[in-house]
Amino acid sequence: MTAATSQPPTSPLAPPLLDAQGRRMTYLRLSITDRCNFRCTYCSPASWGGKKDLLDAAELERITSVFASMGIRRVRLTGGEPLIRPDILEVSRRIAALPGIQHLAITSNASHLAALAVPLREAGVTQLNLSLDTLSPETFRRISKQGDFAAVLRGIDAAAAAGFSSLKLNAVVVRDVNDAEVPALVEYAHARGITPRFIELMPFGQGTPVPTAELVSRLRAAGLPLEPEPEDTADAATSVTSGPARYWRAPGGRVGFISPLTQNFCGGCNRVRVASNGDLRSCLGGRAQAPLHQLIRGGATDTELAVAIRRALGDKPEGHRFTEPGNGATLLTMMGIGG
Ligand code: SAM
Ligand code: SF4
Repeated sequence: MTAATSQPPTSPLAPPLLDAQGRRMTYLRLSITDRCNFRCTYCSPASWGGKKDLLDAAELERITSVFASMGIRRVRLTGGEPLIRPDILEVSRRIAALPGIQHLAITSNASHLAALAVPLREAGVTQLNLSLDTLSPETFRRISKQGDFAAVLRGIDAAAAAGFSSLKLNAVVVRDVNDAEVPALVEYAHARGITPRFIELMPFGQGTPVPTAELVSRLRAAGLPLEPEPEDTADAATSVTSGPARYWRAPGGRVGFISPLTQNFCGGCNRVRVASNGDLRSCLGGRAQAPLHQLIRGGATDTELAVAIRRALGDKPEGHRFTEPGNGATLLTMMGIGG
């Protein structure tokens, strides 16, 4: 448990935004749609159609501005697939222009990036995390069910050329599906100046996870001399750059691992989530805690929204419970929460 380091704010709208553990929230993940053009086996129910009642661009801007006034400095747009929203450039422009927001990132499957990489950069997006689990068209089809592999590869190349300040390539590793491709994915990413990251499969869908320690051993056995980077010595609870990834150094660049199952990252959590239906979720593994969309539609003022947000953060659990038997099945799909 982290001790609170600041006095309570004088106004609900003033920073800091602290949770029950005294962790300072600086990072907002906004799921802007629960729809997707892919159906990845580990993420999406095959029959998922998505809901229509999404926050519009003005509502997303309003919610983010309230969070920004409370000390949120970094925003990530996710989904579902955020780039299938027709107003994605307007949403990006509005959020990037808000006072206090220093970084605007997007997580995407890259399928629409060939056309959108440069416009997104111009709209103020600074960082992209792109998902690519395999370099094999057959395995890609097996995982994504309906994704366009060639469009994804074109999108990744367009992003690499567009001048984002940070580009990462995320791969969820599933045993006997894509685990043998980890060395090739490292090489592919480094050849494009991108940092590859490998994610332990969380229990939202099908498949068997591969522990990070096993991947590190396998990369070393494949001839990649990985050395651990020193952990970020900045205060993980307040840093805007802190995240759940741990990085290793290889000759071609960094390699990241996100290990929700074997290296719990909750102690330094600085993030709060708003799901695509506008519900605030204080934890990826937690339940909805403040219906922000309903509050806005009911005419709530910014102060009332801030009070609801602070109350919800007061209930933020100390950590997720993915590793507890049966818990995965009780969680919402990734598509609605946004990963
Ligand atoms: N559609 C976008 C994409 O695929 O990048 C953004 C949304 S997706 C839910 C966000 C991230 O969650 C992706 O990197 C995806 O690979 C990851 N993800 C989805 N299901 C997962 C699971 N069961 N375990 C671990 N990561 C998962
Ligand atoms: Fe869509 Fe991303 Fe989920 Fe795949 S991981 S189904 S691309 S939201």
